[in-house]
Amino acid sequence: MLPKEPARRPQLGFLYIPPFRLQGLSIAGEETVVHVPELDLCFDIGLCPKAVLPAPIVALTHGHMDHVAGIAYYFSQRPFQGMTPGTVICHPELEKPLHNLMEAWVDIERQRTKYNLVPLAPGEQYEIKNNHHLKAFEAIHTVPALGYTVLEKRTRLKEEFVGLTQEQIVEHKKAGKEIVDTFHIPLITFTGDTAWGDHLTTDDVLQSKVLITECTFMEPGHRKRAGIGKHLHLDHILDLLEASSDETHIVLTHLSRRTHMGQVRKTLDRHVPERFRHRLLVLMDSRGNRARYEQQLAEAEANQVGND
Ligand SMILES: [Zn+2]
Ligand SMILES: [Zn+2]
Repeated sequence: MLPKEPARRPQLGFLYIPPFRLQGLSIAGEETVVHVPELDLCFDIGLCPKAVLPAPIVALTHGHMDHVAGIAYYFSQRPFQGMTPGTVICHPELEKPLHNLMEAWVDIERQRTKYNLVPLAPGEQYEIKNNHHLKAFEAIHTVPALGYTVLEKRTRLKEEFVGLTQEQIVEHKKAGKEIVDTFHIPLITFTGDTAWGDHLTTDDVLQSKVLITECTFMEPGHRKRAGIGKHLHLDHILDLLEASSDETHIVLTHLSRRTHMGQVRKTLDRHVPERFRHRLLVLMDSRGNRARYEQQLAEAEANQVGND
């Protein structure tokens, strides 16, 4: 009998939650990386699968190997593939160790790779593109950890000026008056690995259009284990579904390799109330996500025909 062929590379998980694509891999302890092309942003880098290289910015949540291992390769491959040097956002406590890592590669490779490292303290923001800011918050894990929310800055004419002519508004502006209100819309939150805490019940998190979080433990008896490893359990996800906006899609990542996806679907169908089920997605549920995407395609096509 002939030996078998090696396993194929893992296929990236894919979800389209308009207007965002999420594409990446996430299995607890092995690899976590989630790319959002519409935001030019990647959360964590995992082993740096080639498909995420176009992301010019990577926001690292914490220093565990399954989230960071590909970082030197990311920095080195972008220029090699003709792209600008990458920028990596990290917890201030990771800044020095990551510089050390890049310095070690200079000795190993006998050449220097260009890279940008930006420490971001909890509460601070970094502009990722026009009017879009990445805001860091402190998460709770076994090592220093951040979560991130992407905020879109929008402005609206102050109520007192509504109804005035363009000329009148310009007059007020010239007189030095603030004519617009500025507000921030939370688009996507990525919690990274984390235990439960107040940082998960802020408006930024609960009002995000997409909330990507971890669910390392699902079985009813595993809540204590989740607490010890500073991870979340499905019970916490139910709390998040309850507290978040009706518009929020919650995407689960970081499930254990041991949990079979068929079993995951069954567990969710059994434990998640029907009214929430359509808002809860699993990044690595390739079968479920494919069916969902095909339905989106069919709907888009039907709309197109309707418009013709
Ligand atoms: Zn992890
Ligand atoms: Zn971790």
